[in-house]
Amino acid sequence: MNGEDCEFCQGRGWIVDLATNRARRCTCHASRVRGRRVDDLGIPPKYQGCRLTNFRLAGDVGDQLLTARRDCDQYIEEFMELDGSLNEAGLVFIGPSGRGKTHLAVAVLIELAEQYGVGGRFVDFTSLVADIQATFQPDAPRNQADLLRPLQEAEVVVVDELGARRPSPFVSDTLYLLINGRYMARRPTLFTSNYYLTSEADDDSADAARNLAGRVPASLISRLHQMAKPILIDAVGDYRHELQAHQHR
Ligand SMILES: [Zn+2]
Repeated sequence: MNGEDCEFCQGRGWIVDLATNRARRCTCHASRVRGRRVDDLGIPPKYQGCRLTNFRLAGDVGDQLLTARRDCDQYIEEFMELDGSLNEAGLVFIGPSGRGKTHLAVAVLIELAEQYGVGGRFVDFTSLVADIQATFQPDAPRNQADLLRPLQEAEVVVVDELGARRPSPFVSDTLYLLINGRYMARRPTLFTSNYYLTSEADDDSADAARNLAGRVPASLISRLHQMAKPILIDAVGDYRHELQAHQHR
């Protein structure tokens, strides 16, 4: 059906549900984006099964994982504003490896694609840094604009493992332009990181090794504070999640 002719939304593509006072996509939008599948999000095979419903909370887990999952549910539910625009704020999942940060970020991305038909991209930070670095080679197979365009234009992007690799100064500048560009265009970005969003390098602190400072530009860290809500998954009592999370694969 052509959106212009739609009797439900008058071509707007979204409807305000009066019962819940929330906006949702109209069914005509779904038919326009039906070709868009989870495969198109660039999610690695090992994460394609990640959903909020199979994010395991069984066992000796703390309240933090419950809170994290609830925050994700709420983010998805409130993603579309009443005027049909998309929430411009992103999320940043912070905590050590194996706690389910990537699981949650992927689950949110898939849910947004399925519920709202948004176009999204998943990108691993280490690969992104390597790919940007490669564009600086004289005979690079693809130029930087071609590499970055899909990440600039996607409605939602997941950047996994932010800070996992220290980029060179040129690559750092490019990363800042990419992420700041998404912020300026009001497009939400979800991040996962093993590091806290601290921008001051403090060598005396035992926690310095757990901070993003020195791993990505300070300008990017301060921008992250403005564009992504932190969701902490770092409580000691949550260690068992690592075992639980992998059982469904
Ligand atoms: Zn419609």
